[in-house]
Amino acid sequence: MNLLSANKTRVIIEVGNKAYFLDKNNNYTEYSFGDKDDIDYVEPTDFTTTQTPTTGELGYGGKTVFPVKGELYNSVNENLYVFINSAFSEEGQAQMIAHEAYGHAYLFLKYGGNLKISRHNYQHKNGYNFYGNRILNKRIIDGMNEVHYNMSH
Ligand SMILES: [Zn+2]
Repeated sequence: MNLLSANKTRVIIEVGNKAYFLDKNNNYTEYSFGDKDDIDYVEPTDFTTTQTPTTGELGYGGKTVFPVKGELYNSVNENLYVFINSAFSEEGQAQMIAHEAYGHAYLFLKYGGNLKISRHNYQHKNGYNFYGNRILNKRIIDGMNEVHYNMSH
């Protein structure tokens, strides 16, 4: 992950119970991840989707806030923030770091702040949900599965 450290933008990873950012109107805002009671659980699996770690934890696992202005979520300064929900299990947190840092943050830095390639592109068409950003999806799934492999072998 040389790119994450070679770039001028610093990537700050905070593990806690909230994300904070400036909203569209530049107002400081906090979003609570909730606590352990707010996490639902499904059967653990050996393969992840983009949103759910293999631990089966369903909840707000993490959030990346880019150093941009005028978006729904904007960094409070020039740094890129990755917020991870501390109520997730150790492996769930590690997989969410892979999602946020190796997915969103990596692509943001690699493509010079290109938001289109760094963010999810959810679309609902004809009764189906599409996850349109295949480059991001692949990085996220590969990263999360690698963490799972490393932590279970
Ligand atoms: Zn994401």
